[in-house]
Amino acid sequence: MNVISFKEAKCRNCYKCVRTCEVKAITVKQEQAQIMNDKCILCGHCLEACPQNAKFLISDLDKVKGYLKEGIPTVVSLAPAYLGVLKYKTPGQVVTALLKLGFTSVRETAEGAAFVTAEYEKLLNDGSMNNIITTCCPSVNDLIEIYYPSLTKYMAPVDSPMVAHGKLIRHQLGTDVKVVFLGPCIAKKREAVGDPRTNGYIDAVINFTEFEQWLYEEKLQLDTLPDSPFDNPDPKVNRLYPISSGVLSSVVATADTPNKYRKFYVHGMKNCIDLFESMERDEVSGSFIEADICSGGCIKGSALNRESISRFKVKLDMEEAIPKEPQKDKDFYERAGEISFHRKFCDRSPKDPMPTDPEISEILKKIGKSTKEDELNCGACGYRNCREKAIAVYQGKAELTMCIPYMHEKAQSMANIVLDTTPNILIIADPDMRIVEFNSAAERSFRITRAKALEMYLYELLETAEFEEVIKTRTSVFGKKVTLQDPGITVIQNIVYIEKPKGVLGILQDITLEEEKNQLAYKVKMDTIEMAQKVIDKQMLVAQQIAGLLGETTAETKVTLTKLRDTILYDGMESPNKNNRGT
Ligand code: SF4
Ligand code: SF4
Ligand code: SF4
Repeated sequence: MNVISFKEAKCRNCYKCVRTCEVKAITVKQEQAQIMNDKCILCGHCLEACPQNAKFLISDLDKVKGYLKEGIPTVVSLAPAYLGVLKYKTPGQVVTALLKLGFTSVRETAEGAAFVTAEYEKLLNDGSMNNIITTCCPSVNDLIEIYYPSLTKYMAPVDSPMVAHGKLIRHQLGTDVKVVFLGPCIAKKREAVGDPRTNGYIDAVINFTEFEQWLYEEKLQLDTLPDSPFDNPDPKVNRLYPISSGVLSSVVATADTPNKYRKFYVHGMKNCIDLFESMERDEVSGSFIEADICSGGCIKGSALNRESISRFKVKLDMEEAIPKEPQKDKDFYERAGEISFHRKFCDRSPKDPMPTDPEISEILKKIGKSTKEDELNCGACGYRNCREKAIAVYQGKAELTMCIPYMHEKAQSMANIVLDTTPNILIIADPDMRIVEFNSAAERSFRITRAKALEMYLYELLETAEFEEVIKTRTSVFGKKVTLQDPGITVIQNIVYIEKPKGVLGILQDITLEEEKNQLAYKVKMDTIEMAQKVIDKQMLVAQQIAGLLGETTAETKVTLTKLRDTILYDGMESPNKNNRGT
């Protein structure tokens, strides 16, 4: 089952979550991070680490509101971490708030913790286990079952307080009621509804952050509400479970007879891993160990805004407010009747295929690591070293492209090829016009080396007014013909605005040769036109002369012929239409 989901569009492949995840339960496929449910122990660290907020918790809140809206009797099991997390004056105000939201009954999960303490006490008295690791934290349980399966023999075969409480409530109220766990932890959800060994007792899990939001929506302010009592007998010292060493305090206060075990607690992912590695090497024996994945215990649970909670203050306040008085009433325990709080743990380690050494070398070669020296082991991909990354690639959890130095080198060499082979002059300048890139074409045209150019300002080479304007207006300018006096070339100047890092890219296309050709062609054209004009003029002159001669003889002929006609027509008399000479 999914507890954490992804907004894929938001993932930007930074691998921060992979780096953060101590057990590498995140795979990156097609440039999207995804959680591998069979490997994730729900510590919640990747939720906090993601700079894009690409991950979110799948909420049961609507489901719970649905129960209440439909009038289904719903009991809330309130985790004792509320004592350090919620802002109230008296615990009874929290009960009132929950009743106002529609819950039928409010009970403390610490009630279930008392039964768990009693089971631990039996194990201590029995003394047959070499080490006993407490099993209240589902993430610790997952960590051992998945990654340190040889230690499952040390896990106390006992339910968590939440499951124990669910069993008790079901036993007392039947299956017609819904049971909702309200707590600080994201891992409880999988334990409640996603694990066939423990499901069926808790119907939904919501967290304190969701609860506070719900109160806000309903305009309920905890510290202004009246008190209401819890529907459970006082669990006493077992309310201390959520603080670091709280389980030990409860067990020590409750155990009547001395036992052989040394007792200590460990909290925080890295410390748990250190301890379990040490236990795998058989360095720990005869110990009763309280282990929490969250640093500071459940009061700094994975579903909370941990920054806002001081674990030292809360621990001191809670230890002062809750007397270390054991719950010893026979009646308290008899209510459970024959319920078994026994739980089995087993090896759930993933059976991923392991590559051989030559297969690892082959993968390393694909990311440019042919020798030991090429293996930078920088961890940028999220894995501790190149070899681990290569194994993850083999197992289909990681992609080759996650090697950032390799990709950088590849991009750099591709960029270099482009820079070196383009015939265009490429110059990049920063906002102060300091030259930061200068390609081979630029070296040839300006006749200075790249190294020298990188010590210069652009205005030492060309007119920069338009470059500065592009920086100012953040608008690129394309296609202007410019003549550069010093190298004596003509270029088409394109100035591109660069957002990050801020600067300008000048792409100058050298068109000097074309320009010269054009000028030559123009001259040839003009010369031809001039020659043609001369011929035309000459021809015109001749034509005019011919026309002149022709005109004279034609006029004379016309006059003579007209006279002849008139003589014939009027027999030597003058024509009556003397002026009509043409007809
Ligand atoms: S919740 Fe924890 S274990 Fe799961 S993927 Fe995130 S960091 Fe890894
Ligand atoms: S932290 Fe993980 S999920 Fe978030 S953006 Fe980076 S790679 Fe994607
Ligand atoms: S060099 Fe690449 S593969 Fe090796 S650790 Fe760094 S990012 Fe990972």
